[in-house]
Amino acid sequence: MIKENLAEVERRISEAAARCGRKRDEITLVAVSKTKPVSMIEEAMEAGVLDFGENKPQELRDKYGLLPGNLRWHMIGNLQRNKVKYIIDKVVMIHSVGSLELAETIEREAEKHQLVIPILLEVNMAREASKGGVMPEDAQRLAAEVAKFPHLSVRGLMTIAPMVERAEENRVHFRNLRNLSIDISSKNIDNVAMCELSMGMTGDYEIAVEEGATLIRVGTGIFGERDYTKTAGI
Ligand SMILES: *Cc1c(COP(=O)(O)O)cnc(C)c1O
Repeated sequence: MIKENLAEVERRISEAAARCGRKRDEITLVAVSKTKPVSMIEEAMEAGVLDFGENKPQELRDKYGLLPGNLRWHMIGNLQRNKVKYIIDKVVMIHSVGSLELAETIEREAEKHQLVIPILLEVNMAREASKGGVMPEDAQRLAAEVAKFPHLSVRGLMTIAPMVERAEENRVHFRNLRNLSIDISSKNIDNVAMCELSMGMTGDYEIAVEEGATLIRVGTGIFGERDYTKTAGI
């Protein structure tokens, strides 16, 4: 099933990219494996996926220990400061940096391991009270503050769009995120590169691709519905 789902997602990414004159290889598909067992990740690996996204530090750490070292792990969820230590040396990118305090903690942990961690600033484009991330008007200041940390590398922006009836409703948020990234880029802040836009999930990734996403985070569309009543099957 995973193989077939992936083929379908791949087809849709390619078609969305083609519609706006983009190349498929400008877009990285991050397979969001949260709550799903290692056996399903292995199935996705066999179908060629190397990038996986998790939103719980301990779950990421545990799966990391059980799977081959060539996988690329993305931390995509709300990250508590006291849990940064579990994942700091295991991730290729942290997508969800929405505060200076969290950035400070990542800096400290990264320094201990002598690593430079690629990060994205999470922006709350729809201003939802239930979501983390910095407000759009504060993103540039956060970028400038975080840029001072030598063990962090700001690579771009990320957003989690609202749950909507029609994916098209989220186009405005994706477009605004891209415009915000262009604005910040034009300020030429040292140590800030706005090359990545992490946006789009199962319900709306095609629209995100059309609006310039370089990283899309797809869970359900690859692995099927999640069952939160069970503990994460490792
Ligand atoms: C769970 C999650 C996803 C994937 O959601 P789907 O709708 O299952 O594709 C993407 N991004 C974040 C931050 C998530 O927590």
